[in-house]
Formats: sequence, C-alpha cells, structure tokens
Amino acid sequence: MSYDWIVVGAGLVGSAVAYELAKVGFSVLLLDQSPDPSNATRYSYGGIAFWAGDSDLTRQLCQESEAIHPQLSEELGYDTQFREMDMLLVIDRDRDPTAIAASYQHYRIQPQLLDPSMAVKMEPLLEPKAIAAALHIRHGHVDPESLTRAYQHGLRQAGGRVEIASVERFVQTGERIEGVVTSQEIYSGQVIVSAGGLSRRLLYQMGISTRLYYTQAEILETPPLETVSLQTIVMSAELQRMPMEAKATRPEYESLWDEPGHEPVPPILDVGAIQFQDGRIRIGQLSRVLTDPDALVNASASEEQLRDRIGQVLPCLKSVPAAWGSCLVGFSGDRLPLIGALPGVSGLYLCSGFNGPFLLAPPLARRFAKSQKGEADPILAQLSPARFS
Ligand SMILES: Cc1cc2nc3c(=O)[nH]c(=O)nc-3n(C[C@H](O)[C@H](O)[C@H](O)COP(=O)(O)OP(=O)(O)OC[C@H]3O[C@@H](n4cnc5c(N)ncnc54)[C@H](O)[C@@H]3O)c2cc1C
Repeated sequence: MSYDWIVVGAGLVGSAVAYELAKVGFSVLLLDQSPDPSNATRYSYGGIAFWAGDSDLTRQLCQESEAIHPQLSEELGYDTQFREMDMLLVIDRDRDPTAIAASYQHYRIQPQLLDPSMAVKMEPLLEPKAIAAALHIRHGHVDPESLTRAYQHGLRQAGGRVEIASVERFVQTGERIEGVVTSQEIYSGQVIVSAGGLSRRLLYQMGISTRLYYTQAEILETPPLETVSLQTIVMSAELQRMPMEAKATRPEYESLWDEPGHEPVPPILDVGAIQFQDGRIRIGQLSRVLTDPDALVNASASEEQLRDRIGQVLPCLKSVPAAWGSCLVGFSGDRLPLIGALPGVSGLYLCSGFNGPFLLAPPLARRFAKSQKGEADPILAQLSPARFS
C-alpha cells in the first residue's frame, strides 16, 4: 500500500500532524502499535498554557493556539472538551513567593500572586499551612484522549486511515527512506516519526542519532469521584522537571542514552492534580531518567510517595481510590520541539520532543502541513532537527 505520508505514533502529536496533512489533500496513514496505548498523551493533564510564551517564537505560537483550540471541536466534528480554568501554582511553605513570582515575569501573561487565604478561597480543598503563596492564572484545558480522538476523527473524515500495527523498521534504499515495515505489511510513502519517548530508539535502530530524550513519568488516576470536586488545576510553581531535563542532556551523558541501565540524574516529584469533566482526577507526577525505555520501577513505593506529597497540598486526595500508571515522555535538547526532515537521509521526518504539545502541536502541525504544500515557514526553520547536527 502506498501513501503520501505515513505517520508513526498516534499520540496527540502524530494524530494532529496526520489530520493537518490530510486536510491539505495528502493521502495519509497513521499507525500506532496499540489500540489503547499507555502513552504520554493518555496520562497527561491536558493543560494548555496560552500564557506561557517567553520568546517571539513561542508568543506567536501561543496566539495561534489560542485561536485554534476554541474552534477545533467544530472543525473536527468531535468534542475536545476545551475549556478555560483557574490554575494555582503553589509555592512551598519554605520558599520566597516574591522571588518565584519574579521568575514568571518574562511570560506573555503574568500570573497573579495570592496569599494562602486568597488561594483557599479559589481552591477550598487546598491546605493553606502547606504553602507560602500561590500564583493564579487562567489556563486552557482539554481532555487529552478526546483531543486525540478528535484529530483521528477529523483525519478519517478527510480520507486518511488509522491502523494498529507496530513499525519494526524503515524501508531504505541507499540514503532514501521509502516506507515502513510492520509485523503484517510493508507501506510505502514519506515517513514521519511521532513515536513520543520511543522515537529515539526507533531511529537509533536505523543508525540515526537525534537529540531527543525521554523521562519515565508516573501518576495516579482516580475513577470518576463524586465526593471530591476540585475547582482549579493545582501544580507546583517550581517545576523540578525542567532542571532535571537540563542536567540529563549534558554532553557527558549523551553516550549513556543509547545504553540501557543508566540513571544519570535522580528522580523528581512535581506535585499536581487535575479533575476532568467526568470526575476522574490525575495526580502527579514522578519523573525518572532511565536510559532503558522498558525499565521497571517499584510502583507501590512510587504510589506512596505520590500520595504523601499530594496529601500535603490537597489532603483530601491522599487516600482516594486510584490506579498507578506510567509512560514515556519525550523531550528535546533545548526545550523546543523537533519538527522536520532528519539530516543525512531523505524521506524521513521527525515530529517529537514537544514541551507543551497541547499548546504547540495544533499550530505547528498546521504549519508543517502547509509547508509541505510549498509555503515557506520561518518558524519551522527554527525547529528543524538539523539544528543539532
Ligand atoms: C502526568 C503528565 C502530565 C502532563 N501534562 C501536560 C499538560 O498539561 N500539557 C501539555 O502540553 N503536556 C503535558 N504532558 C506532556 C504530554 O502529555 C506529552 O508531551 C505528549 O502527550 C506527547 O505526545 P506524543 O504524541 O509526542 O507522544 P505519545 O503520546 O507518547 O505517543 C506516541 C505514540 O507512538 C506510538 N509508538 C511508539 N513506537 C511505535 C512503533 N514502533 N510503531 C507504532 N507506534 C509506535 C506509541 O504507542 C504512542 O501511542 C504531560 C505528561 C505527563 C506524563
């Protein structure tokens, strides 16, 4: 079977790119190894930080995303459950609220500093003694799986196909990639790798190196709860994940990333909780840098840590019924996504490593599709994987 484009990985990013390519008239096949993948999209909070642009490039993309999200359900014919919510970024009791508020000043929209009593008015389930203050901002939100299904629905409506099959390798002739080989079929076409945290391994198996990395994230997810009602998204104002990613991508660790068995930096826990419209709550998040994507962790020890930490900030969540889950989350070497042709081969593209894909994937997928119709795109030029060559 032959397509213009074969997209490998049907998380949010692959689904958005596949839809936008089909919308501009290409024939598109979207492949995922599982009908119900335990991927990063499935475990995400689904938050959209329209406020968080901190450069000309990201401010421009924030504006575009703000225009796209509210009309996506109608465009795709499927409800993404888009809404805007209050978000509280909590500041630990022993930290300096003014200094932390100052670290948010470079964003497109700055959050407002609230003392604990004001924060509790906004989120009555918060423990005021646990915090020195909180930052308040309006935050976009979708149900992650609904948004992904919406893109896949739009893709089918535009004539594209979604198939369940694991891509084992690429079809290669000399320097040219001509398709993919799955366990059942060979498909020909230009290939886009959107395999999230597994993108690095898939490409490495073909002898292609990228500055794409992954963390193992762990969360707890409750069933729909009628007894607990969160009014806000609660997250830590000082995310430990960013410094952890920066350390893990230092040049001295680069060679470890393709050898299983290393943990170059210690794990972190960024407290967070979001309640979806059906009442489920996701509680996070532990992140580990383990260089084996299949590494096993001690789930019950992780669950205890997650319960202890959330119990300090939102005591009512400490003992709620919840299931532990984990996934790989891809990230890049400079916090910007990798989108575009991979250097050294033709016919092979990468779309992965997004920091904030719920914000960035809708506008960037649209731009990528238009660029393949011949529109020059100065933003995509800055996100090319070739920037690390
Ligand atoms: C707890 C948590 C909270 C988060 N909150 C937010 C948030 O609020 N906002 C935000 O923007 N981001 C958030 N993120 C990050 C976000 O969820 C991820 O960055 C995003 O979902 C990645 O999407 P993706 O499509 O790149 O990868 P994935 O969703 O991981 O999808 C990759 C897909 O590729 C498939 N695949 C892999 N290899 C193959 C193969 N060989 N053949 C076929 N298929 C393959 C996998 O099965 C998978 O379905 C959060 C992440 C976590 C863990």
